[in-house]
Amino acid sequence: MPGAAVARVVVDVPHAHLDRPFDYAVPDSLDAAAVPGSRVRVRFAGVLRNGFVLERVARSDHEGRLSPLQRVLTPEPILTQDLHRLLRGVADHYAGTLADLLRLAVPPRHARGERRAAAREDSATGGHEGGRDDLWRGYPTGAALLQALRQGTRPRAVWSAPPGPAWPRMAASLLCAARAAGGGACMVLPGRHELRQAIQSLPPCCAAEAVELHAELSAEARYRRWLRLRRGDSRLVLGTRSAVYAPVADLGLLLLWDDGNDLHAERQAPYPHAREVALLRSHQQRTAVVVGAHARTAECQRLVETGWARSLEPTRDALRGWAPLVRATGDEVEAVRDVGARSARVPSLAWRAVRDGLSSGPVLVQVPRRGYIPGLRCGGCGGPARCPRCAGPLGMTVGRALRCRWCGTPGTFSCADCGHTDVRAVSVGSVRTHEELSKAFPRARVLHSDGEQRLDVVPEDPAIVVSTPGAEPVAAEGYAAAVIVDGWASLSLPVVAASQEALRRWMAAASLVRPQPAGGRVVIVADPRQRAVQALSRWDPSWAAERELSERRELNLPPVQRLAEIVGDTASVAGVLSVVSLLPDVEVLGPVPLPEGEDGATQERALVRTDVSRADRLTSALGSAVAEHSRSRAAGRLRVRVDPVDLGW
Ligand SMILES: [Zn+2]
Ligand SMILES: [Zn+2]
Repeated sequence: MPGAAVARVVVDVPHAHLDRPFDYAVPDSLDAAAVPGSRVRVRFAGVLRNGFVLERVARSDHEGRLSPLQRVLTPEPILTQDLHRLLRGVADHYAGTLADLLRLAVPPRHARGERRAAAREDSATGGHEGGRDDLWRGYPTGAALLQALRQGTRPRAVWSAPPGPAWPRMAASLLCAARAAGGGACMVLPGRHELRQAIQSLPPCCAAEAVELHAELSAEARYRRWLRLRRGDSRLVLGTRSAVYAPVADLGLLLLWDDGNDLHAERQAPYPHAREVALLRSHQQRTAVVVGAHARTAECQRLVETGWARSLEPTRDALRGWAPLVRATGDEVEAVRDVGARSARVPSLAWRAVRDGLSSGPVLVQVPRRGYIPGLRCGGCGGPARCPRCAGPLGMTVGRALRCRWCGTPGTFSCADCGHTDVRAVSVGSVRTHEELSKAFPRARVLHSDGEQRLDVVPEDPAIVVSTPGAEPVAAEGYAAAVIVDGWASLSLPVVAASQEALRRWMAAASLVRPQPAGGRVVIVADPRQRAVQALSRWDPSWAAERELSERRELNLPPVQRLAEIVGDTASVAGVLSVVSLLPDVEVLGPVPLPEGEDGATQERALVRTDVSRADRLTSALGSAVAEHSRSRAAGRLRVRVDPVDLGW
C-alpha cells in the first residue's frame, strides 16, 4: 500500500544467509515513487546497494530505527508479485537465493531504454510463412489442442514433433491460438539458430508484436524489450533460456522447444533449468504449457505418466509421410567386410548412402566432437560402465584400479545388460572425416559446420556437409541423406542421460532429411541393439523415453530422484553433509576427491539424493546449509547444484 511508512526491500547482496527482505523507512520525498516492484538504492551494512521494493507495510517487526531508502532509481514496477513468487519458487527449488535469480531474470536498468520502451522499432522481423494449422492434422488430438488454446482453457502437453522442418510453423500455430484467446504467450528455445527459425515462421499478425529476447542483445535493447512486455505493449515473446522469466501480461501459454538441449540449463548459480522454471511458472500462473521436441526426455515422459500432461504424438500414418528411412550398421562388423574400401571408419552402407544421396542433393554427415570422454564403457555392449552400488560412472585410478566417480567405492565391473566384465576407455580419435570424404568423393563439394564456425543453411546443390551435433545447417528442400558416424561416441557422453542425449542428437540430424517417400534416408553407424538406435530406426521417441524413465527408476536417478551435487573444499562439503545427512531417506554418495582445479586447490564432491516426493525437504535443508556456510567467517568454496545436467560422468 503506497503511503505506508515502511518499504520491505530485497537487497542485492551475494550472501545466502541474508536471503530475506529488509525493512526501510520511506521518506516523504520518495513516498510516491517507492511503489511495490520499484528499483531502489539502500544503505546496507554501510554500503549503498541496489534493491527492489517488495511491498509497503504500515509497520516493521524490526526493533529500533529503520534506515531510510536513499533513492528510487525508477518507479517502474519491475518486480511484480507474480515475478517475485516465481523467482522465490525457483530459488527454493535450486537451494539458491532470490538475489541470484533477480540477476538472471531481470535485466539491469538502462535509462535510455526506459525512455524509449514505448517505441515499436524493434519488433521481430520475419513472419512470412505463417502458422500451419493443417500440419496438426497428423495428430489425433491436434485440433482439440488448438481449439482449447483458442478458447483460453489451459491444456498441458508433451509434444513429439514430427521429423522434418514443420516444427516452427506448428509452434507458430500454438502461439497464434493462444494470442487469439487474448492471453500472452512465451516461447523458449535453446539457441539463436532455433529462435531465428521460430521467428521466421510467425504469421504476420504475430510477427508484428513479437518481442525477441536473447543474450546477445545490447543492455539497452534488452531492457527496452523487457519493459514493453511488462507494460503490456506486447504479449508475445520468443527467446532463449532467460525469456522464461519474461514479464508477459496475462500469460496464457508457455511453449518450450527441445528441453533435452543443455543450453536450457543456466550456467550461473543456482543453475536453474528453463524447463523446470516453465513448469513451475505454468503451475503458479495457471497457464497452458507445451514442451516440444523431436526426441523426448525422461522428465517429460514422467509428466505424461503421472497424468500431469497429455502426450501429443502423430499417427503412424502421418509419420510415414514425414520420416526418412533409417538403417543402422554396426561399425566393427561392417568395417571388416570393407577390406579394400578407402576408409575403415565409415562402413559400406554409409558410403553408398553418401554416393546415392549426392545424385539428388546435399548429404549431411554428423560427426561427434573430437576429444576425450571421461568414464568407461562396457567392453561388450559399449554401454556406460556403472557402479553396482550407486549407478554412478566407473573411472580408473592412476594405479588402473576401478573406482566409482560418484561414491568412491572401489570395485569390479559386471555389465547389467550383457554380462561382460571388461571395460574400455572412451575417446573420440582425430576426426578425419572431412579429409576422408574429400578423398573418396573428389568431385563433391565438402562443407563444414561446427560450434565455432556454423553454417545456417546450405544450398540445394549436391554437397557433403560435415557437421558436429547441434551445428547442422538447414537444407532448403531437405537433405537427400544423412550419415551419423561414430554413433557410439554419443552413447558414451558424460551425462546421466547418455542414451537419451544420443537419440536427441540423431533425431535432430535425421529431421533435416527428406521424408522416405521423397527418397530421404539415414544411415547410423552404431550397434543396432542399442535402445536409441532402435528408437531412431522406428522413429519412436515416446517408446525410448518410457524405457529411459523406467531405467532411471531402477538406477535411482532423476527425475524419479532429486539429486544434488555439492562441490567444495573438504570442510565446506562436510559442513553441508552434516546438515543434510540428518534427514531421513537421503542417500549420501562420497565425498570423493576431484581433480585439482586450475589454481591447484583440492576439491571434493559429494552427491545426495532422495525420492522426488521428499525433494522439498532436501532442497530446503540444502538452502539452510548454504546459508550457514555463508554466515561463517572462514567460509571456503562451495557450489551446490540441484539436478545438474552434466553430472561429471
Ligand atoms: Zn555390456
Ligand atoms: Zn558408486
